[in-house]
Amino acid sequence: MLLYSTKHESPDVSLEEAVFRGLPPDNGLYMPHEIPTLPASFFENIDKLTINEIALEVCKALLGDDIPADDLKGIVDRAITFESPIVEIEKDTYVLELFHGPSMAFKDFGARFMASLMSYFLQKSHKDIHILVATSGDTGGAVAQGFYKTAGIKVTILYPTGKVSDIQEKQLTTLGENVTALEVDGTFDDCQALVKGAFLDKELSTTFNLASANSINISRLIPQAFYYFSAYAQLKKMGNTKPVVFCVPSGNFGNLSAGLIAQRMGLPIQQFVAATNVNNIVPNYLSTGIYEPKPSQETISNAMDVGNPSNFIRMRILAGDAYEEVVKHISGDFRDDAETRAAMKEVFDRTGYVMCPHTAVAYLGLKAYTKSLQEEVAGVFLSTAHYAKFLDVVEETLGTKVEVPARLSDLLSKEKVAIPMSKNFEDFKAYLLA
Ligand SMILES: *Cc1c(COP(=O)(O)O)cnc(C)c1O
Repeated sequence: MLLYSTKHESPDVSLEEAVFRGLPPDNGLYMPHEIPTLPASFFENIDKLTINEIALEVCKALLGDDIPADDLKGIVDRAITFESPIVEIEKDTYVLELFHGPSMAFKDFGARFMASLMSYFLQKSHKDIHILVATSGDTGGAVAQGFYKTAGIKVTILYPTGKVSDIQEKQLTTLGENVTALEVDGTFDDCQALVKGAFLDKELSTTFNLASANSINISRLIPQAFYYFSAYAQLKKMGNTKPVVFCVPSGNFGNLSAGLIAQRMGLPIQQFVAATNVNNIVPNYLSTGIYEPKPSQETISNAMDVGNPSNFIRMRILAGDAYEEVVKHISGDFRDDAETRAAMKEVFDRTGYVMCPHTAVAYLGLKAYTKSLQEEVAGVFLSTAHYAKFLDVVEETLGTKVEVPARLSDLLSKEKVAIPMSKNFEDFKAYLLA
């Protein structure tokens, strides 16, 4: 796989280089030059394959020039250790549950695959790396769990004290082994400044092989294509062969970009719906043709509070680049908190199914889109997190207590281990060098 920068001012790179660099030096995003189409025979038999078998075929097509098939199987199987079932909650309306991984959010797919791929390359080159990540909550948990006990990789996670939820903090601070949590006496921006400072510091970068686990790393995008294929396979297995529509609750638009990769590889997807909360930069672009970033607003679906989506350019290129092409593939919808809460309550009262706020935004987007259609379709909305990660909002909205999975309640009883850190760069540097 050869990758180019979307700004076209940096040289093309190999997969390995793109994975360890994260970002091209010109600050664009890495994109594959070619996205191969899978053969018709693959789609004919897809309903007989597991998600790991599907993932292996997708990887062979995309990464087969870089990594032998046997090795790819190991990389996939280390990363994908959980299912992503679809559940029919109404006729022809399915929820794709992406929260069965260790951090109970879909970011597990990206983080675990990135860890698996990095560890493979490091074993070949006999190198070690030290990953620094600043987190405001969810990403840190997925990255910590994803890299936990991964050979050759040490992880240091910086989080702002008092600014992450109890569950999120426990996900970062109870692992140990190769994962260290630093509780920074400051804000998320202070954490990010410390990480940036470390990458710019000559002494640190020559002493350690520093790397980032940035969310726009190409290795986080690729594994997110797997579950679109898997959802299609499950529909086929259930005998539902209607045209497929996917509604994706979106913030930085990595998830939707991965769906477009699946479509480019031949997966027959009739339409995508880009669903957001009131941070509606992309739905606005889809209705007006104008892309206008704004400061983000806080909502109850806070993992989607993004005012300048970092994967927008990838999404646009993958959907055909020209505005007229993009709107053929993607429709937009956005909802405020009151509508989101009303949907959570209505679906729960009618069906008993509990949705997190992000999932409810996607449910509404799917319903609004399919209502406008003449024909019948199989509508799939993505559930990006388990509802128990947003327990306060969910219980308040539904007016009842809900069940918390053992995996989360066990976590709360574990003891937190974090190293207090000031927001002063010299203190942080002295800590790393010690
Ligand atoms: C990160 C996240 C999203 C947004 O995904 P993008 O790929 O950034 O669009 C949606 N829901 C949840 C729960 C998330 O953690």
